[in-house]
Amino acid sequence: MKKIGLLIIGITSCSLMAGCNTTSSGKMKIATTFAPIYDYAKRIVGDKADLYCVVGDNEPHDFSPNDPAASIFCAEAKVLFSYGHEMDTWADRLSKNTFNVTNGVGFDENNGVIDPHAWLSLKESQTMMKNIKDKMVEIDPDNSTYYSENYDKAVSEFSNAMSDFSSRLEGDKLSSKVIVTSHEAFGYFAKEYGLTQYGIGDIAAHEPDSGRITSTIEYIKENSVKYIFVEELDEVGHVETIVNELKKENYIVEYKTLSAYEGVNVDEYDKEGDYLSVMKENVLELETCLKE
Ligand SMILES: [Zn+2]
Repeated sequence: MKKIGLLIIGITSCSLMAGCNTTSSGKMKIATTFAPIYDYAKRIVGDKADLYCVVGDNEPHDFSPNDPAASIFCAEAKVLFSYGHEMDTWADRLSKNTFNVTNGVGFDENNGVIDPHAWLSLKESQTMMKNIKDKMVEIDPDNSTYYSENYDKAVSEFSNAMSDFSSRLEGDKLSSKVIVTSHEAFGYFAKEYGLTQYGIGDIAAHEPDSGRITSTIEYIKENSVKYIFVEELDEVGHVETIVNELKKENYIVEYKTLSAYEGVNVDEYDKEGDYLSVMKENVLELETCLKE
């Protein structure tokens, strides 16, 4: 009740004041739901707005916002860039100015369920950045050249990264093309570089049942898998079970970290939160592990 009260006061006092969708720095407020959208928007918006990320470094699949500060920022923001596809079902509650950035993105189905993780495709990332750029030009036409130049720069950086990643992961350089992941997040990424993903947990990051654990153990042995890739936000109990079961059979499998860029620590963004640098780390890790 207290939180709802605060939110109402926040919105009401705001609606009585002029210029409320700017911050004390005079910049407009732009909100984003979770990490990849924050990253794309930051590239396009640059220093023209104060950006906010509602999910921050939390796990997004089961996230529900309960921070009054987030509610107030989103209610005041010119736009809340959202994703849809079950990743931020709460967005429309926080803002009447939501804008879905996934228009034109080709989503894949996985066992009859839409796989939401299209942000792990660098190609689809560019589609989403274009949508954000177009929206910013509409909101703030005076700075349209600035947004367009930022978009062009971002596209060039993403295209260069794709060429680099392809040169590292495609062709005959790797001894294995199979990636076993703790959560089935890397379908789009795998497709982009000719890899095969085997996710232990499903696309919504649910823990696997005992049947899935048994079939994973068989899959690992059949494909001579040496590593399981675990995300930094994942629960790893089921991975430990698999590693320990295999150890009993003298089959050693290690785990390594791979980021699905589902969370971002906004305060650390400039140092380590940038999407492309995280993807590059992923690619270098995969290159090392799959070459062995
Ligand atoms: Zn996920």
